Amino acid sequence: MSPLEIRKYPDPVLRRSSAAVEVEEFSDSLRNLIDNMLETMYIFKGVGLAAPQVGMLIQVATVDIGQGPISLINPQVIETEGGDIAEEGCLSIPDVYLEIKRGKKIAVTAINLKGKEIALEAEGLLARVIQHEIDHLKGVLILDRIPSLERQMIISKLKKSWKKKGGELM
Ligand code: ZN
Repeated sequence: MSPLEIRKYPDPVLRRSSAAVEVEEFSDSLRNLIDNMLETMYIFKGVGLAAPQVGMLIQVATVDIGQGPISLINPQVIETEGGDIAEEGCLSIPDVYLEIKRGKKIAVTAINLKGKEIALEAEGLLARVIQHEIDHLKGVLILDRIPSLERQMIISKLKKSWKKKGGELM
């Protein structure tokens, strides 16, 4: 196992929609990807990681809020209850923390590594992280979930810090 490179904003791969995994694609390589994603997530101290963040445009995400690893293949929120605002960060947007509104309680369907459909219910932090990762699978980032004025301010700050680091601008 080896940690994967985490793609950082504004990498265009973060803006693309991921394709659903077909049951025929369930293989050792999918299993390896999930193992490597979990390892990468632990190394960078994240609580969730979505495949586009490691450059793979497939609907796979890993989550661990300290209660053990969860891997989600083709996850979909089928029900949302209530709303909740809390601070979120993202491994692809380092040093940015934003207050984001999410559903408080969710019901999710996904596929497990055996290709069987599973259903789970989550609330609080776990629900938040799962919603954040599902957003990644649609090319949506936390920057898209804040008012546009705030977004412009944060993006211009990010651009200034890229300039300091001599990074490329989009
Ligand atoms: Zn993220």
